[in-house]
Amino acid sequence: MLEQPPILEISDVQKFYQASNGPVEALRGVNLTIRKGEFICLLGASGCGKSTLLRILAGFEKATKGTVAMYGFPVDRPGPDRGMVFQDYALFPWLTVRENIGFGPKHRGIASKMVAELTEKFMKMVGLSAFADRYPHQLSGGMKQRVAIARVLTNDTDMLLMDEPFGALDALTRGKLQEELVDIWRSTGLTVIFVTHSVEEAVMLADRVIVMTAGPGRIDCAIDIDLARPRDVASPEFNILRRDVTRRLTSHLASSRTDG
Ligand code: ADP
Repeated sequence: MLEQPPILEISDVQKFYQASNGPVEALRGVNLTIRKGEFICLLGASGCGKSTLLRILAGFEKATKGTVAMYGFPVDRPGPDRGMVFQDYALFPWLTVRENIGFGPKHRGIASKMVAELTEKFMKMVGLSAFADRYPHQLSGGMKQRVAIARVLTNDTDMLLMDEPFGALDALTRGKLQEELVDIWRSTGLTVIFVTHSVEEAVMLADRVIVMTAGPGRIDCAIDIDLARPRDVASPEFNILRRDVTRRLTSHLASSRTDG
């Protein structure tokens, strides 16, 4: 990928939580520059601080020390420029697919004609136009996650933050959504930061895999995934990278503490 300007600068981020048995250091000394349009996977074992870092980027949590800046401006609260997609979808159950997708722009006071146009555009992009009037409980897990993605896209977001978004889906649906996400990423030019504990998923999706270690959470290394898309999990090149990333991930698992 051509060198793009930085969109996000994470500088010396540390995070302590107050737990009942004392402070927990969830992150220490995290430094990372993310370029516009990159597809980043944060990879690590349970408890290494992936979700904490993502929540800090989203503005849901504050770093105890250090800074996060987007386009040079400090990130200290949630904003429509950063959209979050969760594993459990977090849709409004009382709203239809169309209403869920149009929720953001409607509540930002955008003219109703424009809201309708945005909603139709992104509903089509995620292949749900035929299901516009259904409610979340009438949808499969994969369809719910498509709604969640479209809902973020209507906010004219710059960055998609995804916390193990396909973790609850069966393997076939997960593979399909991975493909669709890559298509959406390519057609929109969004920057994607995707949390996963699956090496295969990280190598399938990312331009760059950020391997994290636990106790306290830190960045171990960044691995460029220089494979053409669509990627083939059965190809020798894919397997070499999968093996390298796995080796890197497991090399510190033996020597570090995790709580998951
Ligand atoms: P991951 O997403 O990699 O599984 P998390 O970011 O959820 O890791 O957690 C990192 C560490 O911070 C873990 O030790 C976890 O128990 C702790 N932690 C996370 N959230 C809280 C919280 N709200 N209060 C106390 N400790 C927390």
